[in-house]
Amino acid sequence: MKLLFVADLHYTLKQFDWLYARAADFDAVVIGGDLLELAGALDIDTQIVVVEKYLARLAGRTRVLVSSGNHDGDARNAANESVCHWLRDAKRANLYVDGDSVEIGDALVTICPWWDGPETRADVLSLLERDSAKAKKKWIWIYHAPPANSPVCWNGRKAAGDECLSEWIARFSPDVVLCGHIHNAPFYKDGSWIDQLGKTWVFNPGKQIGPVPTYLILDFQLSQVQWSSLEDEHTREIAIKA
Ligand SMILES: [Zn+2]
Repeated sequence: MKLLFVADLHYTLKQFDWLYARAADFDAVVIGGDLLELAGALDIDTQIVVVEKYLARLAGRTRVLVSSGNHDGDARNAANESVCHWLRDAKRANLYVDGDSVEIGDALVTICPWWDGPETRADVLSLLERDSAKAKKKWIWIYHAPPANSPVCWNGRKAAGDECLSEWIARFSPDVVLCGHIHNAPFYKDGSWIDQLGKTWVFNPGKQIGPVPTYLILDFQLSQVQWSSLEDEHTREIAIKA
């Protein structure tokens, strides 16, 4: 099983074009949140229409798994927390979104939405509890924010990760967590694109300008993961312990 993983495209359409060109080579393309850009020149409704078209085209080439990030909210719930409705509405054949769990090869992939407060955080925990009860050989989470206390959340000044995610990783021990959110973590001396917490591998591909996003290729047959950016390219072995 081979996955292509990116996050934080922030409405960089040339990077969506690049994804489309590469998609057919993979069993799935994973986008780990922040597809839109809240501070962009275009209003969010227009961005949503365009990104929905890209996702539909991508889903014509391979399976596409997409989680929301903090830039993707288009509504607020009763507790006034930001929520992402458009992505759930965009769901179609081959396109899996927040709240879905997807079987790919021998892996179960859980797609976690961005949480913005106690209510949406409780929803994420319910999702993880639901999927923890399912039979699976490998468990992969898509989760926009990186865990706390890890170089994958280093923002140049401090570790800026999600404490709840760290707790949930310790509790559920997934095999792989695909994150994003802290754009420069892979580029700092004290940061990284890869880390291991207990038996769980965590990744943050980072973000760069230009037509090619920073990306990860996860090859579960070879137990290898490759990170590519304009600056650098690295390959690491990742043994997944059963
Ligand atoms: Zn971002």
